[in-house]
Amino acid sequence: MKKGCPYGTHRVISPKGVLPQPADVIDNTMEIYDNEVLIDVKTLNVDSASFTEIERRAGGDVEEIKKIMLGIVAKAGKHKNPWTGSGGMLIGTVKEVGPAYVGDLKPGDKIATLVSLSLTPLVIEEILEVRPEIDQVDIKGQAILFQSGIYAKLPEDMEEGLALSALDVAGAPAQTAKLVKPGQTVVVIGGGGKSGLLCLYEAKKRAGVTGKVICVAGSPKSEARAKNLDLADEYIVHDATDAVGMYNKIMELTDGQLADIVINCVNIENTEMASILACKDDGLVYFFSMATSFTKAALGAEGVGKDVNMIIGNGYTKGHAAITLQCLREHEGLRQLFKEMYA
Ligand code: NAP
Repeated sequence: MKKGCPYGTHRVISPKGVLPQPADVIDNTMEIYDNEVLIDVKTLNVDSASFTEIERRAGGDVEEIKKIMLGIVAKAGKHKNPWTGSGGMLIGTVKEVGPAYVGDLKPGDKIATLVSLSLTPLVIEEILEVRPEIDQVDIKGQAILFQSGIYAKLPEDMEEGLALSALDVAGAPAQTAKLVKPGQTVVVIGGGGKSGLLCLYEAKKRAGVTGKVICVAGSPKSEARAKNLDLADEYIVHDATDAVGMYNKIMELTDGQLADIVINCVNIENTEMASILACKDDGLVYFFSMATSFTKAALGAEGVGKDVNMIIGNGYTKGHAAITLQCLREHEGLRQLFKEMYA
């Protein structure tokens, strides 16, 4: 059996010398190296920005979505969306563990991989079902987890689909939990979406009774979702591409103070400036959205003379899976909503 690199560089075909995530093509032969884990895949949870783009290109046609997805994997050996660069994650059952793999996985374990599909060697033999409303795709196929790849064993107290959908965005509520301090004012843009709802819950919990959490929703429908669960102190519907309008609304809601922390959970482009303008000087903007442009954020903040700290939404922070699943355990309404919408 061949020896593998912990980061999976042994699977990179082109360009040579890069890691599997930025690579264009990786080797997806399902014969494991000595430190890899082979997974029988059940469901892919395609990243929201990625799925939205595929769906748009397919004109909403499910057969066309399947063709595009199969095409991506056939070309790249992984499901890295060529237009958004993003992936998603998967659930499946461990089939084989390499003898040099260090960890507690064994054949038969049901896991969710917490590393992006944009770097995971994947073979899709057949697409069994596409669920466009929740970005999930059931397949017959296999995937490889590298030694460095993080994962969560699926919890026994919730449905697989429910855990998968929450774990997909696990970085967001966990970062929120770490960033938000008592008494702070927090704005969550895209607050009625999947990651947004979890962030609102964590933000309110951490900001406490002296803090203020503002939900900015993209439509009355997603606003109602957050409102019905009483996840925030204030709710507005506002187009996050309208930066000046956002600034005026947040000024109004904060008595001219603006937010200590702005969390961006939208799935569309051009929302950097609304996030930056909603934040006070020395405040913090957390860009969880994969549609964020580093250039637009950096030059945009400079352009308006805003001294804000900006965090790129690293999908991983320590304990992210545990924090996220705990949100669903603590809030029955949130759990029910996630079950109805995503499970
Ligand atoms: P989601 O459930 O689709 O939520 C996105 C939200 O954005 C929706 O509630 C939508 O509101 C709102 N929105 C869309 N256009 C808007 C606009 N013009 N103004 C204001 N709000 C608008 O998506 P998600 O699963 O939470 O994911 C959110 C983002 O996180 C995506 O970009 C995804 O790619 C990214 N992501 C990042 C990581 C990471 O590791 N950093 C991991 C997973 C996902 P309506 O429903 O009302 O239209």
